[in-house]
Amino acid sequence: MADTAPADTIARRGFMLVLSSPSGAGKSTLTRALLKPGSGLELSISVTTRARRHSEIEDVHYRFIDQKRFDRMRDAGELLEWAEVHGNCYATPREPVEAALAAGRDVLFDIDWQGTRQLAEKMADDLARVFILPPSMAELRARLDRRAEDPPEVIARRLAAARDEIAHWDEYDYVLVNDDLQRSLEAVQAIIAAERLKRARQPGLPAFVDGLLSEP
Ligand code: ADP
Ligand code: 5GP
Repeated sequence: MADTAPADTIARRGFMLVLSSPSGAGKSTLTRALLKPGSGLELSISVTTRARRHSEIEDVHYRFIDQKRFDRMRDAGELLEWAEVHGNCYATPREPVEAALAAGRDVLFDIDWQGTRQLAEKMADDLARVFILPPSMAELRARLDRRAEDPPEVIARRLAAARDEIAHWDEYDYVLVNDDLQRSLEAVQAIIAAERLKRARQPGLPAFVDGLLSEP
């Protein structure tokens, strides 16, 4: 997506774009589409104690670690947020996110409401929260079945948890119903474009405006 002129020419701080939804609503699909080259976005790679799915690649989708290592990272303060989801532990390593924001790069997070809440407590000014709803519970179930990545008992557990996740929709800045994928993608791209132009994210603006006003 093309940036507008100020974002291209003026130094700015990166921001954190969080996508949350019940499992199966389409976060990963949207994330993949958003991360196309030239997007200016990078993905926060979480650590998790969950077993790797067949389609997943170490260090691309997650860093898969054991519980002992997870506990050590948490106790050493290396995690920006962490949560237990569907019986496994997930967390965001702190250092890559802080480095990206300081360098003016935007970071995309696929995390749940518990993690989003922790980011809002610690770094509210750097955060834009998007919640993705399925068009219906029947379609959510159909998408989980179609994805065919999890055994039936895992799908049943995720469907039961979907209602709890959806209950947190009103803790988010933006909410969209992922019916048509292309329309959802364009909606999130519009959010990104607007968030990049926020005045507070452009510390180079005063100098730019001073320069403008000093021109004859
Ligand atoms: P999540 O990451 O939220 O668990 P996924 O992105 O894995 O969900 O999507 C679950 C399934 O639904 C996938 O098979 C995906 O291709 C499909 N899907 C995602 N968005 C849509 C959409 N708008 N319409 C139809 N199917 C979709
Ligand atoms: P999955 O097992 O399907 O990859 O993810 C299950 C849930 O864990 C999803 O709701 C996903 O958003 C969430 N999740 C993934 N990584 C993190 C993380 O680092 N922190 C938190 N809080 N949730 C995460």
